[in-house]
Amino acid sequence: MRMAETSSIEDAEVAKMKPITCTRCGTVMGPKQQKSHRYTASGLDNVVLVGVDVRTCPNCGNESVAIPRISELHKKLAQAVAEQAEKLVPGEVRFLRKYLGWSGVDFARYAGVTPETVSRWENGAHVMGPVSERLLRLCALKMDPVDDYSVLGKMATEEPQAREIRLTITTEWKAAG
Ligand SMILES: [Zn+2]
Repeated sequence: MRMAETSSIEDAEVAKMKPITCTRCGTVMGPKQQKSHRYTASGLDNVVLVGVDVRTCPNCGNESVAIPRISELHKKLAQAVAEQAEKLVPGEVRFLRKYLGWSGVDFARYAGVTPETVSRWENGAHVMGPVSERLLRLCALKMDPVDDYSVLGKMATEEPQAREIRLTITTEWKAAG
């Protein structure tokens, strides 16, 4: 996931050899402390990680945080966002879309809207409709980011027409291509 790159994860081996310095001013960072850290690197400003190892720069106050099990964290975070009763705010729409590994264009195809509409949802110019919002939440809750979503993009937008679906029994049920 792209978001993970912005978080600083300490390499224990490197830490043993040389002191950790501030990425902003170069001063040697303070000792590890278990603290709460506002996880703005997620793209959300309302997420606080409690009890993570944080080092603070004694000179400029910059924080470096060690975030363990980052994909599990993002999954839990996506779940919490998708399950909330409140309507999604633009940052949450963007977070869930990125969590699923979708580009803005991907999401536009899956939701059957233009990429411009997706941009407007994510910058707050337009409020997302309830159907698109449910699609995004359901995908975030029920699918893994590695799943294949191509079926959503292939959905025909013309006249509805039921196509014959053939299923064959061998050792298990298999749909014919
Ligand atoms: Zn500093």
